[in-house]
Amino acid sequence: MDHFNVAIIGSGQAAPALAVGLAKRGQRVALIEGDRIGGTCVNNGCTPTKTLRKSARVAHLVRRAADFGVHTGPVSVDFPAAMTRMRERVDTARRGLTARLKRTKGVEIIQGWGALAGYDDEERFVVSVGEGRVTADRVFLNTGTRAFVPSVPGIETVDALDNASLLALDELPDHLIVVGGSYIGLEMAQIFRRLGSKVTIVHRSDRLADREDADVSAIIAEFLVDEGVALHLNAKVASVGRSMRGVLMTLEDGTEIAGSHVLFATGRVPNTDRLNLDAVGLETDARGYVVTDAKLRTKVPNLWALGDVNRRGAFTHTSYHDHEIVLADLDGTKDLYQWKDAEQRPTTYAMFTDPPLGRVGLSRSEAQNLVAGGRNILIADMQMKDIARAKEESEATGLIRAIVDGDSKEILGATVFGIGGDEIISVFTNFMATGASYRILQQALPVHPTVSELLPTLLANLQPLEANGD
Ligand SMILES: Cc1cc2nc3c(=O)[nH]c(=O)nc-3n(C[C@H](O)[C@H](O)[C@H](O)COP(=O)(O)OP(=O)(O)OC[C@H]3O[C@@H](n4cnc5c(N)ncnc54)[C@H](O)[C@@H]3O)c2cc1C
Repeated sequence: MDHFNVAIIGSGQAAPALAVGLAKRGQRVALIEGDRIGGTCVNNGCTPTKTLRKSARVAHLVRRAADFGVHTGPVSVDFPAAMTRMRERVDTARRGLTARLKRTKGVEIIQGWGALAGYDDEERFVVSVGEGRVTADRVFLNTGTRAFVPSVPGIETVDALDNASLLALDELPDHLIVVGGSYIGLEMAQIFRRLGSKVTIVHRSDRLADREDADVSAIIAEFLVDEGVALHLNAKVASVGRSMRGVLMTLEDGTEIAGSHVLFATGRVPNTDRLNLDAVGLETDARGYVVTDAKLRTKVPNLWALGDVNRRGAFTHTSYHDHEIVLADLDGTKDLYQWKDAEQRPTTYAMFTDPPLGRVGLSRSEAQNLVAGGRNILIADMQMKDIARAKEESEATGLIRAIVDGDSKEILGATVFGIGGDEIISVFTNFMATGASYRILQQALPVHPTVSELLPTLLANLQPLEANGD
């Protein structure tokens, strides 16, 4: 059996940088991947959706051209061309990443599904890869998640799509039914609507993106409906079946929706079922995620779990940050400053609808719960329609919100929902990494005319947050 210092199972968003980092430290690393190098983000997630989103946004802006005094002919979308552009971007990203790994001395890519197979006589991990086996002193799991498709009656009779199979389509759906009105479902719904599909969202809660504040959910619903997306809220799927048009969905209240395709964007499940964790005595939590400490070590010595599979983040940047935590921990250095482990870091992410929603830390409703418990918290809101740059762009939908600890003056959370929100949120996130008083950001010197120039004004308007206020 070939021996490695390190075996990484799954080439998620922590694995490549971890493999290169460990190889640079003189380790011989096996990077085991069952499918395509680059994982979900590169192949079926961030990269393709953000590339396709651009085609959708261009189509949207061209349809709005007259608002800007520009006249065009009839707008049509060449769906195969948009998909080709997307696939070329994905292929380039994957090729670049694979080439980087292949030219890194000490890293060996092993293609196949990895699983733990116990220990050898020297107490080293045995890892099976397909028919083969390798041994390793240390094992890192970075196997990610896959789409969860619920067992709705009749589901076996239709070609239910998930994020991967939707992005593999060659023809534009005539009518896409999206089950799930959270981040992935909303991004996909808007993209396909703008590319020309009729789109219907079926969501079980009474508002979209229901982890966000209620006013944010209301704005999302408003712009999607304005763009022609049909919404069924508080709606549960009773059954699906084949129809002449493709799919007939029946909701529990008896409503029937006839579509050509159905996408289930109803959550994710961890890829731990084929890892044979029992072989080393590791149990998962009730949902199949690997339990780790804040430094991402499992209770089995020399076995770590990084990325979505440890349920300490569900994003590419959190998975990447996991590798930084692990390397700093192994090195015993102080290379990480503010957020030294996975428990200290705030949750930050963007939903790439248009306009995008940038978020970090506490939402207003989460902050209100703290106020109810006696915390002194300040809040300030500003509407995008009051921001000059947003008006100049004629893209003035959304709001900005800052949440501050009234005692320590630290920023605890922010929402930047509007033009540039996916970028501008990092002004807050990066500032929060310093742990400094919000007053320093309030006295900073942003460029005019930008949305960010209003952040000092926003922070000048902080007011005490009430537990039950709006
Ligand atoms: C449609 C969509 C859009 C998204 N957009 C964004 C976004 O814009 N921004 C963002 O931050 N996040 C986004 N995400 C989330 C992001 O893709 C993940 O959080 C990110 O990929 C981190 O995953 P990971 O590192 O845990 O592993 P993953 O990227 O999921 O990769 C895991 C890899 O492990 C492999 N694997 C699994 N089991 C085994 C095994 N037993 N043996 C060998 N290999 C195995 C898999 O084949 C896969 O290649 C999106 C997700 C989806 C689905």
